[in-house]
Amino acid sequence: MKITANNPDRKSWLPVDSDSDFPIQNIPFGVFITKDDIITIGTRIGEFAIDLGAFHQLGYFNGIPLTDDMFMQDSLNDFIADGRKTWRHVRNRIADVFDVNNPKLQQNEKHKEAIIFDVNEVEMLMPIDVGDYTDFYSSKEHATNVGKMFRGEDNALMPNWLHIPVGYHGRSSSVVVSGTSIRRPYGQTMPKGATKPVFGPSKLLDMELETAFITTAANNLGEPIPIEDAYENIFGMVLLNDWSARDIQKWEYVPLGPFLGKNFASTISAWIVTMDALEPFRCESPKKEIQPLPYLQEKGTNNNFDIKLEAVLETENGDLNILSESNTKYLYWSMAQQLAHHTVNGCNVRSGDMMGSGTISGPTKSSYGSMLELTWGGKKPITLKDRTTRTFFKDGDNVVLRGYCENENVRIGFGKCTGKILPPVKLKK
Ligand code: MN
Repeated sequence: MKITANNPDRKSWLPVDSDSDFPIQNIPFGVFITKDDIITIGTRIGEFAIDLGAFHQLGYFNGIPLTDDMFMQDSLNDFIADGRKTWRHVRNRIADVFDVNNPKLQQNEKHKEAIIFDVNEVEMLMPIDVGDYTDFYSSKEHATNVGKMFRGEDNALMPNWLHIPVGYHGRSSSVVVSGTSIRRPYGQTMPKGATKPVFGPSKLLDMELETAFITTAANNLGEPIPIEDAYENIFGMVLLNDWSARDIQKWEYVPLGPFLGKNFASTISAWIVTMDALEPFRCESPKKEIQPLPYLQEKGTNNNFDIKLEAVLETENGDLNILSESNTKYLYWSMAQQLAHHTVNGCNVRSGDMMGSGTISGPTKSSYGSMLELTWGGKKPITLKDRTTRTFFKDGDNVVLRGYCENENVRIGFGKCTGKILPPVKLKK
């Protein structure tokens, strides 16, 4: 089926600013609650949130095989499980109904009132019920930087790294939607030079600038997903801030990897941008330094996506400080390679599972995706607009991730992924 929703010449009868992340070519999916306390699945065009539950009830999806309550749900999991054919049908229809040349809804004031909301008057909720969350480590620049700091220049990359998309199983219960405040976590740490660990609030609270992809119910237990089928099973992408407490992480991570230093919160952007919408932004992937094993070999070289990423620190006085400018095109291992590797042992993937890229760092210092790298382990503080400095984040800091793709015709974006850091909770003892 053709993706007619991507037609770059299409214009909507809803007004959209030229620098909006959400032109009619985007049509992302999310979940929101209206002023009248109605929870629905929706999409967004410009500054308008579109209630797809009402849209469906009023007959605008007629002819597409969908269950009656498909969009009147508090997560996208069932819709995602319906598969790529349904996602395409639905996006194409939405594009058609909101096309400037289509008068049907455009001229029906009553229907418009039931379907279209000001995006500032709805509250975005978690778009999916995350079943499992896996986080990869797919940026070679990031893995090399961290390796240099922890193991020295000569052993920066572990011997497995160029052969395996390294990853670990994260925690889904603490994945939260953009705008949710983050409590500074407590934990056990080993201060430099000390002989005994101490307990207290983390002193080295960090971000990780990442993206994540959301899968459908892809395979049965025991059956790998071949790499050429990977994108058939990926619904879309979000921005991900994989909050990390570096002092807790450093003390606990040997030998089983990250645990409490990572699982206290992971923030995702509210709108899932579909792989279909991102298709025009495929780009060349970095050349493999070692040919991977056959199950990880992709056809062609156009296997990455050109998504510009930005991490911004908003201080309490409202200043916006750009911390990092990176891009998903730097990722050494592609999403298809990640998914093929994840399932090669027969591990089953379900609808609404989330797979993080790992911190995405580029080749230059201004493109590093974590404070750990930007301040080189805290040795090189960053000076902010208000003349204060940061090595890691302070309470009150609001960390904002942004991401968008752009070509001569269209700009497709993710909106914001934000989280403000709150002081630690008061403990009873
Ligand atoms: Mn991570």
